[in-house]
Order: sequence, then C-alpha cells, then structure tokens
Amino acid sequence: MAKYVYDFTEGNRNLKDLLGGKGANLAEMTNLGLPVPHGFTITTEACRHYLAEGSVPSGLDQEVAEHLEALEAKMGRKLGQADDPLLVSVRSGAKFSMPGMMETVLNIGLNDESVHGLAKQSGGNDRFAWDSYRRLIQMFGKTVLGLDGDLFEHALDELKGRRQDTDLDSGELQQLVETYKGIVRDQTGKDFPADPREQMRLAVMAVFDSWNAPRAILYRRQERIPADLGTAVNIMAMVFGNYGNDSGTGVAFTRDPGSGQQGIYGDYLQNAQGEDVVAGIRNTIPLEDLEHLDKQSYDELVGIMETLENHYRDLCDIEFTIERGKLWMLQTRVGKRTAAAAFCIATQLVDQGLITMDEAVTRVTGDQLAQLMFPRFDGGADKKKIAKGMNASPGAAVGKAVFSSARAVELAEQGEDVILVRRETNPDDLAGMIAAKGILTSRGGKTSHAAVVARGMGKTCVCGAEELEVHTAEQRFVAPGDVVVSEGDVISIDGTTGEVFLGEVPVVDSAVVEYFEGATEPQDDLVKAVDRVMRHADRARRLGVRANADTPEDAARARRFGAQGIGLCRTEHMFLGERRQLVEDLVLASTDAERQAALDALEPLQKSDFIGIFQAMDGAPVTIRLIDPPLHEFLPDIVDLSVKVAAGQATDKDRKLLSAVKRLHEQNPMLGLRGVRLGLVIPGLFAMQVRAIAQAAAEVPGAKPEIMIPLVAAVQELESVREEAVKILAEAGVEALIGTMIEVPRAALTAAQIAEAAEFFSFGTNDLTQLAWGFSRDDVEAAFFSHYLDAGIFGVSPFETIDREGVGRLMEIAVREGRSARPDLHLGICGEHGGDPDSVRFCHEIGLDYVSCSPFRIPVARLEAGRAALTQSDSDTR
Ligand code: PEP
Ligand code: MG
Repeated sequence: MAKYVYDFTEGNRNLKDLLGGKGANLAEMTNLGLPVPHGFTITTEACRHYLAEGSVPSGLDQEVAEHLEALEAKMGRKLGQADDPLLVSVRSGAKFSMPGMMETVLNIGLNDESVHGLAKQSGGNDRFAWDSYRRLIQMFGKTVLGLDGDLFEHALDELKGRRQDTDLDSGELQQLVETYKGIVRDQTGKDFPADPREQMRLAVMAVFDSWNAPRAILYRRQERIPADLGTAVNIMAMVFGNYGNDSGTGVAFTRDPGSGQQGIYGDYLQNAQGEDVVAGIRNTIPLEDLEHLDKQSYDELVGIMETLENHYRDLCDIEFTIERGKLWMLQTRVGKRTAAAAFCIATQLVDQGLITMDEAVTRVTGDQLAQLMFPRFDGGADKKKIAKGMNASPGAAVGKAVFSSARAVELAEQGEDVILVRRETNPDDLAGMIAAKGILTSRGGKTSHAAVVARGMGKTCVCGAEELEVHTAEQRFVAPGDVVVSEGDVISIDGTTGEVFLGEVPVVDSAVVEYFEGATEPQDDLVKAVDRVMRHADRARRLGVRANADTPEDAARARRFGAQGIGLCRTEHMFLGERRQLVEDLVLASTDAERQAALDALEPLQKSDFIGIFQAMDGAPVTIRLIDPPLHEFLPDIVDLSVKVAAGQATDKDRKLLSAVKRLHEQNPMLGLRGVRLGLVIPGLFAMQVRAIAQAAAEVPGAKPEIMIPLVAAVQELESVREEAVKILAEAGVEALIGTMIEVPRAALTAAQIAEAAEFFSFGTNDLTQLAWGFSRDDVEAAFFSHYLDAGIFGVSPFETIDREGVGRLMEIAVREGRSARPDLHLGICGEHGGDPDSVRFCHEIGLDYVSCSPFRIPVARLEAGRAALTQSDSDTR
C-alpha cells in the first residue's frame, strides 16, 4: 500500500520529489540532531491524487491519524486538548521553493476552551494565548476559507489605532477574536470550526489547493517549474516566538545572498510569529543584534549555521524561532542568491575545500551569467540621488514610477518601462513585479517578499528605502527635501548599491562584459570568480561555440567573447542600403546579359564583405549562408509604388518595379520562393556568392570558409547547387566544406539522403520550429502565445527553448540518420536556440558538435556547454 505520510525521522534531503524541499530538509536537520520540533510530512503524491481526483487518497486520513497520535505521544499533549493543548502548524512545501506563493496556517488546535489551556501552559500568559487564537482565525479565514484578508486587517487596525500589535492587551485580543469569529460567520454563514482535527484536515486541503492558486501558477510559469509536481504538507508541533520579549523569530543566511560575502546575515523580530518578519509589520533588527539580546541562542544559531553550510556545502537560508530562550529550527534550504553571489560563493566554496571546480561550474547558470552582463549606471554621469535603501537584487533599472501592480502591467503593455514602487510587496503584486523593470520598496529587509522574489527573477530591486514616504492611494512618494515623485515621473534605481535617483541615469556595460571584451584584467572578486568558472567550463565542455555574425565588427566581438568560429553568417543584410539598387536591377533584368551585369556588379562588393569577416575571424571557420529571403523583400513597398504611379510621379523604373513586386507577391512568403529555391530559380545568383567567397578566401591567408545552403527539403535541391559550387571552388583552388541547414521537417526526415550531399548540417531551429508546429514565426508570439502559456499548452515558447518532444525529435532523427550515412558529418545549430541554456544542454545530449548564437550569448553558451558536460540532469540544481 502507498505510504503517504513520513515522520521527520523517516525522511532525508534526497526525498524532495516526495516530501518537498521543506519536508526533506526538516527531516535532514532532524537526522543531524538539530533542534527541530517534532512533526511529519504528507507527500506530494497525496497532493497530486487530491488535485486529480478531488478527494484525498484512501488511507490518508488513517495514516495522518496514526502520525498525529505518535506526535501527541512524543509531546505528551493532545491536539487541542482543553487543559493542555498541543498546537500544530500546517505548511506547504513543494519540491522547488516558491516563496510566499502557497499557504501556511499556524496555531491549529485552538478554540474557546483550549485557548485557556494554552494560557495555563504558558504560565498564565493570557495575552499570548488570545493573540495566538486571533492569528489562527485570521490565517484560517484567509487561507482555508478564502476570505478577504483585509477584513481581518481592518478590524485589527481599528482596534490598535496608532499602537503596535504588541501593545494590545489580552482583553482587547479576546474582543478581536470575537470580531474575527463574527467576520467568519457573516462571510461564510458558518461558525469558525472549533474541532481541532477538522481545522487540521481543512488546512491540509487548503494547502493542496493553493498549488493551483493563480499567483502560484504565475510564479511557476515564470520560474519554469513544472505544473504537475504538487506540494507536500508539513505538520509540526508549534513553537512560539510570541511568548514575550524572550521569544522571537527570524530568518538568516549563512552568507550574504547579495554579494556572497561570508558573515551573519538576517533579520530578527522579538515577540513575533513567522509571518510577521516577511510581512514587515514591525521593523526587524539585524541578526547580529540578537547576540546582545540572547547570547546563548545566538551562539547556538551561529554554530548550527556552520554545521548546515558544511553539511549542504552551500549557502543555506534558515528560519528559526526562539521560544523563551530555546532555539528551534523551522526550515532550511539551499538559499536563493543573486547572480553575482552565485559566482563568488561557488569559487569561495572551492577555496574552502568544500566543493570541486567541476561542482562550482554546475552551481552557476547561464541565466545568471546573462544577468551579470546587464548594463549598470554610468559612474561619471550626473545623478540626483534622492534616497538609499538596501541593495536587494542587482542591476540598473530606469522607468516611470507606478504605485500598483495593475498599473505596472497596464503601462508595460503599452511599451513603457516602469518601476513598481510599494511600501512593501506581497504575493498579489507578482504580475506587476514581472511587468516592471525594477522594484522599489520603502519597508522590509533583504529577506522581505520584494527582495526574495526579485532576486529569484533576476530583477533589479531596492528595498527598505525608509526615507521614502510612499502614498500608494495618492500615487506618489515623497523623498527627503520634499522631493515629490508622482506616477509617471522617471526614476532610476541601482540594485547593486541600493541608490535611488530622480530622472533617467545613463547606463554603461557591466564589468563582466568589459572583462569578456578583454578590456580589463580580472580585478574585482566577481570578475575573478567569473574568469575561473569560465576557464573551467571551457576545459570541461565538449560542444564548440560559434557565433551568428554578419559583419566584421560582430565577428570581432564574437571572437573576443570566445567564439571558435562563425556558425551563421547571413548574407542578406549585405544586399540592403545602397546595394538595393543592384538587387532591383537583378529582379528587373529581362535578358541574361542584364542579369549577369547586375550580378557582376554585386560580386566585388560581396567579396570585400567576406574578406572583412575572414580577417576578423583569423583562421577560425566561417559558415556563410547563401541568400535566404524572398527577393521582393529587397524591393520598394507595393503601396508606396502604387501611390507614386497613381499620382503620376512614377519613373519608368518605378512602373517596372511595381509590376515586378506584383509578380513576386506571395500569400505565404515564408513558404515561398526563398532559400535554395531562389538559388535554383535565379541563374547565377548562388554562383556569384560562391565565387565571391572563393576569391575572398584566396586572398586571406588561413581563411576557412564553409558554404551553407538554406531551406533544403530534398537532396536533389542540394545536389544541383553543390555541383555548381564544387566547380567554382575548384577553379579558384579554394577548399570549403559544403553543407546545409536543416530547417524543413522533410529535410530532417530524409537526413540520410541529404547527408550524402552535405558535409555538415546546421539546424535552423527558427524555421524548423515554425514548420514543425505550423506557427508563423513573425506572428504567433504576439497573436496568441500568452493564451497558450496561460492554458499550459506549453510552459515556454518553443521559439525560445527547443521543444524536445517535437522539434527535438526531428533533430534527433536527423543526427542519427545523417551520421549513419556520413559518420564524420559535422553537426551544429544556428537558430536562436543556440544561446538558450536549456537548448544548449539538449544539443549536448543529442551529440551536436557545436552551437552558434549571437555574440552576446556566447559566454552563456560556453558556460552551459560546460555545465552540460559536467552534469547529466539539471533538474535539481535550480
Ligand atoms: C533558422 O531558421 O533557424 C535560421 C537560423 O535562419 P533564419 O533565422 O535566418 O531564417
Ligand atoms: Mg531559417
């Protein structure tokens, strides 16, 4: 029979799939002998069953009852027992952390009787007992019964007026409990459930349900967390941080998640329960100050932090509670960190002997590296600093101030850059946080919701800028010196320093980009760490990395960024600008001689283009793709020409052009006369390009051209182009590989035949995706992808990450069959996917020889290729 419930003593950290991250790590800490309250975990399997069937699996209630009995026996108290109650917390915990996205209910087991038992248990602390009871009804009402949290907040605000929540006395709290019960009755038509087991059962189901709450769905999509994992539920004996001033609760990191520096980082709140810290109800104190409040607990905590770091061999974050001087660990996990911290921590851990360099490479991601390549503010620019908060998530963001999530979404949809400004954020702000360029809050520390979520998303965030008075309702904030910033005013925020500036501050390249450009020797710690990781990734990777570049400048930059060649030089841009004229002549040519004259005029220009690129690549291979788009793309617009003709302003040539444009017009140009088809239909066009390549190569010592034919669907197309190209190359005495793009599903499916005529394949996954899905690549993303993403038809656009099941399968077939026909077939990819981390891994897995991507993505591809070679599966390194 399936086992749905595990005691903390039964699990371990490797069981995240089943017990969720929180449950697995609570079990791990229990096994390490750390002070964890007793408890048990209901598995994700039970949740999946519940979500699929709408009811809990049979046997679950019985198992929970048995584990609860065992818990009661250990604690010597029964759940909700009137004179001496055991209280429990019910917390969600999925495999991947989703901060604040799902539900927690504390203090389960309280009712009108057991509240007195709790008061007795606490030595007559009535205030504490009533405070715990009102918290239960509030949390239960919001999470389990789905009531509007503001109803409770308003009642609390009304009662406390200008006082803090800790100033309320037990009589007032008792009165608040009655008010809260009234709210529940009014809103649901039922009484707040007094039966402790019923409270627990309902809370468990509410946690299960919260997996599918809109904000959780949105977060998963953003973080690419699979939608079908479900959450585990942890039930744990309550410990209380709200007993009084000898109690409290806090969060801590074993090193700075912003910079990676070692030290004690965290926030502590006296006389409070867990949710108070993140909610920013009262201002927390820095964790170091706990040393003066309770040295014994502080020392123990520091010791535990060291134990955890050594055990997990990584930065851990921790939630703890101190109950009357006794420290309890409520959670730990390998903590989220900024991109910069990830690189620094990885190399520090190597230096401490905790991990190897191989592991260090797997501890950072291509996405993190990409974040470090974002621009930062120009240090020399004039700036009007108006405040300073905490540097919660690095980067430079400029945009119009907005004060609500909805407004952020609205303006972002209109193409505006916005900065979301809030007193503090909560999970309901998620959509606005995603839409904004940056997030600024006036309250909350580095562990506040805004900070944690922004770091996770790689979004610039300054939090806790306390000098700012944020007036959300009036849509403005006031900075010191009576500087008023209203909605729509531009501000700039620096997530690396925590500074806030009025107006737009110019941005410059990142230090990491400067290092890649070769302009600087690694100097600061971050650049040194990136340098070490990149060198190791380069040593480890099997995949080559090439660039998509069509100009000598791009080629040179790509080379500086580490490209080992050009995987795609598109030649079409070379026919724009002044050269359009020559393409027009080509299209209008009515005799062979006229056509040849146009081609002869283009040839020396093409030759000089290629010379520049060969020189920039200095002996590295250059794959040149012959012209791909339909020729009418180079001609004037049909409407403009028609207007000219109608207005009687057209020249003879305009009239001819108009009839050519009409003749060449296609309903589906992407499926029309383009690629190899063009080469076959327009005599001499491809020959001109091949001759220009051959002559350029002959003039640049060491040049390594490769000639690539686009949009081939049948080997016969390739054969006839190849035959002509081979002749031209032989005449020029130049050697070059001749190969094809694999962009049409038919090409992938007939790869064995095509490989007979191709020395290399390069997967053009832009077109291959378009044609495999039947998605017009120019239209669908704007037209309906958001709908498809919302409906979960795919979790990420197939134009961004290779769709392994469909497009990927075509690639696998082409690799297998192509290599079976020609074992030394050279294989690469040059669609946009060549710079996407997941897709690079896939290319490694199916045995490609190289990936090719835009120059800026080259470092990302190098790193991901190294990671792919060093790890088999990425699924646990998130
Ligand atoms: C492709 O189709 O993936 C490709 C690289 O070619 P283009 O984007 O130029 O069509
Ligand atoms: Mg293409």
